[in-house]
Amino acid sequence: MEAQFYIAATPIGNLGDISIRTLEILKKVDYIACEDTRKTKILLDKYLINTKLIDCHKFNEKERSGKIISIIKEGKTVAFVSDAGTPLISDPGSVLIKELKKENIKITALPGACAVITFLSLISRDSEEFAFIGFIPRNKQQQFDILDKYKYTNCVFYDSPNRFMNTLQNISDLYGSNKKIAVARELTKVFEEVKEGSVEEIINYYEKNPLKGEIVAMVFAQKENQDIDEVMIIDKIKILHKENFSPKDISRIISKLYGVNKNKIYKMSLETE
Ligand code: SAM
Repeated sequence: MEAQFYIAATPIGNLGDISIRTLEILKKVDYIACEDTRKTKILLDKYLINTKLIDCHKFNEKERSGKIISIIKEGKTVAFVSDAGTPLISDPGSVLIKELKKENIKITALPGACAVITFLSLISRDSEEFAFIGFIPRNKQQQFDILDKYKYTNCVFYDSPNRFMNTLQNISDLYGSNKKIAVARELTKVFEEVKEGSVEEIINYYEKNPLKGEIVAMVFAQKENQDIDEVMIIDKIKILHKENFSPKDISRIISKLYGVNKNKIYKMSLETE
């Protein structure tokens, strides 16, 4: 049985990154529901598709599901696309799917471009495991909490270029400046760029080079056996105490030397005399 509703992935930059099946279905369905009709039209015009459009974005998704359900009940078919990439991946679509499932509507997905998967296919990792957290929160404490939650897993996130330098600084404060990270900008586009290195190297790089466009990044997993050796750290703290370094300086120095969390060392140095 053919689907009544299609979730269709669209390109994340290069308009060539769309499957033949997706193009055929976008041509064949009665309606395409999309986040922004102007953006979707650019893609459709390129492939000479003139299917009727319905706008469906995060602010009207619930109300639009009602309209889409009645269209489908009249025997018509609908495809849903977001502005770019795979719907429901940091994009609308969840509400729609939930409502359509209640009505037993046959749904299928047309796979294709997705920034997180494109990125992961470019980064060599020691383990398959990764956690994708969508857009990283803006708030420093919330960033600490979520990164800490996934510290033993490669942690992938989306971020905006305006906030990314702040995020990098927060990662450095949390894990130390040696923490390994990977960053990709403008995947599949003319200025595609992929960088891997310590958070300090990446900060230095973006202090000298423009940080524009769309960004996906990953904090590499901390190996469990590389947990800090607390006895050794306490020893170092004691030595620095004797030399009259302040807890603030001690945490900065040890965090730099061993790539460990500055706040944790700060607390330890207050407790160590
Ligand atoms: N649904 C999309 C997907 O499948 O990747 C993601 C949509 S989300 C609203 C947009 C964010 O995805 C951007 O802010 C950026 O973080 C990331 N992104 C999208 N396209 C990208 C690209 N070409 N290169 C790097 N990151 C990209």
